[in-house]
Amino acid sequence: MATVAKADYYEVLGVSREATEQELKSAYRKQALKYHPDRNPGDHAAEEKFKEASEAYQVLCDADKRAAYDRYGHAGVNGPAAGGPFGGGFSGAVDLGDIFGDLFGEMFGGGGQARGNGRTRVHRGDDLRVDLTINFEDAIFGHETEVRLRRLEACETCHGSGSASGRGPVTCQQCQGRGQIRYQQGFFSVARTCSACGGAGSVVVDPCTTCRGETRVSRELKLNVKVPKGVEDGTRIRYSEEGDAGRSGGPKGDLYVVLSIRAHDVFEREGNDLKCVVPISFPQAALGADIEIDGIDGPVSLKVPEGTQSSRELRVRGRGVPMLNGKGNGDLLITVVVQVPKKLSKVQRELMRQLEDSLKVENKPAAPSFMDKMKDLFS
Ligand SMILES: [Zn+2]
Ligand SMILES: [Zn+2]
Repeated sequence: MATVAKADYYEVLGVSREATEQELKSAYRKQALKYHPDRNPGDHAAEEKFKEASEAYQVLCDADKRAAYDRYGHAGVNGPAAGGPFGGGFSGAVDLGDIFGDLFGEMFGGGGQARGNGRTRVHRGDDLRVDLTINFEDAIFGHETEVRLRRLEACETCHGSGSASGRGPVTCQQCQGRGQIRYQQGFFSVARTCSACGGAGSVVVDPCTTCRGETRVSRELKLNVKVPKGVEDGTRIRYSEEGDAGRSGGPKGDLYVVLSIRAHDVFEREGNDLKCVVPISFPQAALGADIEIDGIDGPVSLKVPEGTQSSRELRVRGRGVPMLNGKGNGDLLITVVVQVPKKLSKVQRELMRQLEDSLKVENKPAAPSFMDKMKDLFS
């Protein structure tokens, strides 16, 4: 891959993926103060850090760009055409939220009905990962498909309270809700997790029969996944709050759909460029030719210039892979390979001899050295 691995924006700022606006702001402030060029004159590394932090903050402080970054990483906010950190590459980055719309809102209904359950400790549900393999073309033209997954959802019988009466968990008598039992051992006060409540600080005394007091049930479901055109292998699509439900009405985790792209028989991908190899005949290479080949998106006219050497790469602009941000396409790079015929008719053989003889005569007066011929080949 041609792209240089860029540092993760969250790591650059040293914040978690759930960081609030305020946390981002203060993290950026800290970095900016530390690495500001005025404070570190001539320190190139510091300057780079300063730029990196500024770039990260520019993206993460904008809700739309942050959502795009969370789903697609750098590819989501930074088209290949983007300049340096201050090159204005972020202006008008795509709003990927629009692409997906409120897909999940429609599919699963409002959600969040079992939230904020009294004083019980809040446990966030686990993030889930679903691997999805798609065809080469699907990554180029976009794709819509269903994936199956199993996740924990709030139990409907007890509305996520875990108790049959709906009363929910009550304070653990053993530890008085602390979740720990403290005891004295010599000079030390030692704490161990309360065995009655498992450290939760509360227990369900009349467990729900459906979820056995766990507050969640495992459910299999189908999920509609929209793959936008131009995605790369390894792209992670994030669906916020579509992971496991949290215990006792805790917040939901996220769901990540991780894409892998199948190889293609003819085309290879390098970023947003497509590459392929096309055989041409010796006369076509020598005389030049207009040929038509099957591109991934339909016929492509290719002009082979006169005197084209074998293995030369010809570029057809705009016939590669669409940019994820919707701003145009990459290019199609065609390597032409001159084919030597394996069988010749009598007439063809004679013509070849004549050609060979005429080339010999032509070359004789100058008598170029082998090295000169080699150089000529690559000029
Ligand atoms: Zn239940
Ligand atoms: Zn307890």
